[in-house]
Amino acid sequence: MKAAYYYGKQDIRIEEVPLPQIGDSDMLIKVKATAVCGTDLRIFKFGHFKIPEGDKRVLGHEIAGEIVKIGKNVKGYELGDRIATPPNIGCGHCTWCIKGLNQLCPDYEAFGISIDGGFAEYMRVPSDAIDRGNAILIPDSLSYEQAALCEPLSCTYNAYESVNTAPGDTVLIIGAGPIGACHVMINKMAGAGKIIVADISDARLKQIKQFGVDVTINSAETDLKTAVMRETDGIGCDVVITACSVPEIQTLSLELAARCGRINLFGGMPKGKEIVPLNTNLIHYNELQVVATTGSSIEDFYQAMRIAASGKINLGALATARFNIDDIIQAFDYALCGQGMKALIIMD
Ligand SMILES: [Zn+2]
Ligand SMILES: [Zn+2]
Repeated sequence: MKAAYYYGKQDIRIEEVPLPQIGDSDMLIKVKATAVCGTDLRIFKFGHFKIPEGDKRVLGHEIAGEIVKIGKNVKGYELGDRIATPPNIGCGHCTWCIKGLNQLCPDYEAFGISIDGGFAEYMRVPSDAIDRGNAILIPDSLSYEQAALCEPLSCTYNAYESVNTAPGDTVLIIGAGPIGACHVMINKMAGAGKIIVADISDARLKQIKQFGVDVTINSAETDLKTAVMRETDGIGCDVVITACSVPEIQTLSLELAARCGRINLFGGMPKGKEIVPLNTNLIHYNELQVVATTGSSIEDFYQAMRIAASGKINLGALATARFNIDDIIQAFDYALCGQGMKALIIMD
């Protein structure tokens, strides 16, 4: 089979390798679609502490495929079943796993990070993943592409749960990339009365409109706070989500929220930029709730998949470019350039 191996920073090689061996409690899937995520790009550029130097790894963690081999001890799956594999495999027994927060497990394994992921024609699904719920059957109404895209959607579902968007709420999402689009879809489903999206790219602001945005603001051209206050009659937004990695936006987010507003600091900061000034008096006197979420639990993934399967959101429209595995570097370049939304590696 063909696999795209990450060997180190800026070093990915397409290799012809034997099919992954599976044990009696594992499964093998034929990967059908794997979406390129910002995390893949970050690993490609900066490496990852879970990939020791000298190791090689198949990246890709937004995966959907078809089961082609089942170990004799595996129950509950059949050959030909279509599955998606939420990436974070918790240890199963720590406090966070017991609470169902497997994305916070200190000893997690993850497809495309600590074990081989979806940028290959076939992928082993180890017994741990099967036992802990990381092999979810795809509803008939979803394509493989849509199922792979349930991963980013699930991360925004986790964020939604933390800010509890209520019907009628005004929601501001800063960052019009694919994750911004997922936030838009989830908040629309939750009944947001007005969804405002800000970004510095007109191309992305134009594309994100189709997901249910009411107002777009180019914050490179217009002062963001002035524009937000104009759109909210000077009140500010009930929910603010910072879907970008800009420290100044985190600082500003406190001024964009209405009293009792909920703010999710969704995008992590690059190394060296984590210390961000926040006016805590705004939090105090405006009774703001400042929260954050990272990744998603299996339950979030399952729920995201149900939302996608309902057909009430247009998740498929997130896929704006398709590549075959030989062209993975072009797919990464496409994702980096910020013109389109999601790039997918498709394997027939
Ligand atoms: Zn991802
Ligand atoms: Zn755990």
